[in-house]
Amino acid sequence: MLMYVYADNAATTALSPRALEAMMPYFSQVYGNASSLHSPGQRAAEALQKAREDVAAAINADFKEIYFTGGGSEADNQAILTGAAIGARKGKKHIISTAFEHHAVLHTLAKLEKEGYEVTLLPVHENGVVTAQDVAAAIRPDTALVTIMFVNNEIGTIQPIAQIGAVCREKGVLFHTDAVQAVGHVPVDVKALNVDMLSMAAHKFHGPKGVGALYARKGVPLVNVIEGGQQERGKRGGTENIPGIVGMAAAIKEATENLDEDMAYVTALREKLIEGLSKIPHSRLNGDRQQRVPGTVNFCFEGIEGEGLLLWLDQKGVAASSGSACTSGSLDPSHVLLALGLPHEIAHGSLRLSVDRWNTEEEIDHILQAVPEVVDYLRAMSPVWDELERGVTPHLI
Ligand SMILES: *Cc1c(COP(=O)(O)O)cnc(C)c1O
Repeated sequence: MLMYVYADNAATTALSPRALEAMMPYFSQVYGNASSLHSPGQRAAEALQKAREDVAAAINADFKEIYFTGGGSEADNQAILTGAAIGARKGKKHIISTAFEHHAVLHTLAKLEKEGYEVTLLPVHENGVVTAQDVAAAIRPDTALVTIMFVNNEIGTIQPIAQIGAVCREKGVLFHTDAVQAVGHVPVDVKALNVDMLSMAAHKFHGPKGVGALYARKGVPLVNVIEGGQQERGKRGGTENIPGIVGMAAAIKEATENLDEDMAYVTALREKLIEGLSKIPHSRLNGDRQQRVPGTVNFCFEGIEGEGLLLWLDQKGVAASSGSACTSGSLDPSHVLLALGLPHEIAHGSLRLSVDRWNTEEEIDHILQAVPEVVDYLRAMSPVWDELERGVTPHLI
């Protein structure tokens, strides 16, 4: 029987049974509106409060610093628009970010540029990391906000968030991190990280889709993305998604309760993946070998197209991705790989495999059998590979 391995956990994860079980009563039994004064409403309000406390505890925040949103993108939008608004009040309209952020960040920044803000996108070093020194050098007297992702979603590299946060604190600049790929996968402590705002999304750690949260340090006045009622301390209108929020809290508790053990387990799976895939000739691991989240790897294979690779891997029983799920349907090379300085020809042929604590060693073996087979098969048909092999064009890897 063909084994099918889901190795695309950076795109989204399966809902955990514990989270599902926690959510169930809130669909049909405890269905009150948390703003209502009657007892069904109050039961919903209690669940909301408990979930807020659990999510806060998982990142060492106070429950009053957690604002539930409709996912990671919304949290990113709200954080960046907040930084921009606070800056504008003081005449500061410069924002620093990186060239390899998620589109929820990049497109929000592009919108602000049209409104007269100036955005500096720091280039990323070839190992997929920006440094605190890079950030310090880019800060100006009119810098309103620094927004830099914790873990890159395509290549898995970890940014030195605590050091960057320290630089921002020292210079009095607001600091946001998109931690959507970090929460539930590596330790996240908002105090140790020196962050003012931090985004997360439940579906990246086995919670439900369409729910996330923005951490905003006490005293950071959020601006609304969605106007409405007084929900979320008046900062996010709309009747709360109680089942989703309860599911998020259950999932974050589950993901963080054995984090050290899980990280060691997933790191071992990843190391096996890297060792196996590195044996494929003319392949390249993208991003730093060490400074990365346990479960995500990204490889380039010279001479092949990412799309073909994904379709054939699916046939062979492996769900993978070529970088960001939002762009893998397009033929554009990944903006992340281009930001690392990779040439277009190579940035086209990338493969992201993202495993987590739900994957097994047998599944890694299956991946390590399927990928070399598909790479060989596609190279045998590839005119580009033929030219490389005949020496008509030089190998780049
Ligand atoms: C998935 C992801 C997002 C978007 O989160 P949604 O919940 O899908 O809106 C933002 N940033 C990063 C780094 C992500 O991986």
